[in-house]
Amino acid sequence: MRNTGRLLHTIGKKQGQCNICGETGPLTEDHSPPKSCIKPRAVQIRHIVELLSGQGVVEKGRISQNGVKFRTLCHRCNNNLLGLCYDPPLASFTKQVSQLLSSYAALPGIARIQGNPQRIMRAVFGHLAAQGVDRYLKGPETELLRDWFLNESLPLPENIRIYYWLFPHHGSTIFRDAAYLDIPSGRVAVIWLLKFFPISFLMSWEESPQPLFNLPRLSDWGNEVLTKDVELPLSLAEIPHRYWPEAPSETSVITFGQEAMFAVPHIKPSSQ
Ligand SMILES: [Zn+2]
Repeated sequence: MRNTGRLLHTIGKKQGQCNICGETGPLTEDHSPPKSCIKPRAVQIRHIVELLSGQGVVEKGRISQNGVKFRTLCHRCNNNLLGLCYDPPLASFTKQVSQLLSSYAALPGIARIQGNPQRIMRAVFGHLAAQGVDRYLKGPETELLRDWFLNESLPLPENIRIYYWLFPHHGSTIFRDAAYLDIPSGRVAVIWLLKFFPISFLMSWEESPQPLFNLPRLSDWGNEVLTKDVELPLSLAEIPHRYWPEAPSETSVITFGQEAMFAVPHIKPSSQ
C-alpha cells in the first residue's frame, strides 16, 4: 500500500476509545460518506493539500476498494445511533436532492427539501467525528457534543453552526479541525467539512452571534426537539465554488489538520 508521504490513518486498533462517546472497547468501521447515501466503491484517498497545490497528482494515492472507512466508533454510536437513527434521515435528504437534480422538470431557484435537521446534524457530526484514529478530544465542546449526540432532547452547543449547500460534483472531501480565517472581517472559525454528491455540510465553531457564512443552516433548528420533518431550503441557483472553502482565495486562508483528506473514484488502468 502506498501513500503520498502524508500518513492518513483510517483503520486503527480493534479495541480503543470511541471518537464520539469516549468509551473504550471494541471499535467498528464507519463509512464516510455513509453507505446509505452513496454506494461504496474503489477510491484513491489523498491529503487535501495535494488537491489544492495545483501540481497535479504526483503519486498514486492510497487505494481503498470499499470507499473511505474509519475504524474509530463503538457499536452503539456506529450501528445503533448513526445506522438506525441518524443516517436514514440524512440518506432521505440526499436522495430527494439527487432526484430533484435528475428530474426533467424546470428547477426552482430555491427548492424545499423535507428533512429532520436534528438527526441530519447528528449524522454529519458522527461521520466527521469518526475521521482519524484516536481523536475523541474536540476541544472544550467534547462532552457537550457527546451528550448532544447521545440524547436527542439536548440542544446543539450554541457556538456551533452547521451549514449546507448543493454540491453537484464527483468525489468526496472530509476534514476536521481546520482553521478558517475570513480576511475582510478578521474572524476565525474552526471548521469541519463533509462533501459528497449532492450535498456539502460545514460545521463551524463561531463566537459571534452573526453567522460567518451566508448559507442555509441546519443549526437554526438546534434548540428544537423535532419528531417531524421540516422544509429545508436549498438554493439550486447560487452555490459556492466547487472547492470552497478548502481552496485558498483572496478573502480567506485555511489551515488544515494533518489528516484532512479527499477521495476520488479509482479507475483501474487498462492492461495495454
Ligand atoms: Zn461510542
